[in-house]
Amino acid sequence: MTFGPPTPPLPPLHGEPLPLEFANTVHPVAGELLDCFRSPNHLAWWLYSCRKRLGTELPDAALTGIDHAELQCFVLLRDTVRRLLDARVNAGDPEPMDVATINLAAAPAPPHPVLHWPAGEAPRAVTPLPAAPLVSVRAEIAREVIRLLSGGTTVVPRACPAPGCVFFFDHSRSRRNWCSRGCGNRARAARHYARHRRGGPDHPEAHHREDRRRT
Ligand SMILES: [Zn+2]
Repeated sequence: MTFGPPTPPLPPLHGEPLPLEFANTVHPVAGELLDCFRSPNHLAWWLYSCRKRLGTELPDAALTGIDHAELQCFVLLRDTVRRLLDARVNAGDPEPMDVATINLAAAPAPPHPVLHWPAGEAPRAVTPLPAAPLVSVRAEIAREVIRLLSGGTTVVPRACPAPGCVFFFDHSRSRRNWCSRGCGNRARAARHYARHRRGGPDHPEAHHREDRRRT
């Protein structure tokens, strides 16, 4: 590979199903959302990291050749997937434009004949070219998203409820309630803190009140 490691933070790789892993490529940093696909190099790193999970053959040349136009195609698809998942986990309605976008990505143009007409020769149509690898990868991800959203898999997508978290996770795997152990710990700490502020059962003042009632 000729691309170097991109600047951190890198997108998390939690081992979620591919559509959720793809959706989780935005990162909350100090209250702001940071795009983990913020340069062609970042996208190349993510695709390289997930290459073994893809059915599409992704040669090194496809990764090193990613430009900003290609990057925007992935960002558009990723943002669409996030909005569709959001509608799914909140039992809401999708934007029709998002449904159209995912369907378009899932169905790349079929191979088409190319006109080959060198000077001095007769024009002819050459063997149809296969779709470019990166187009095929987007189609593969889009098809996985469609299967997931339509109940064609065992995946149960959930939005992580931990404060400030923006990740999706598969609830069917070990019935987790958070995307990661770190988020579970933060959510428990936030609940504990809220109880203290309200003077709930864990609050020292509450114990005093309890003691006074007993005496
Ligand atoms: Zn989380």
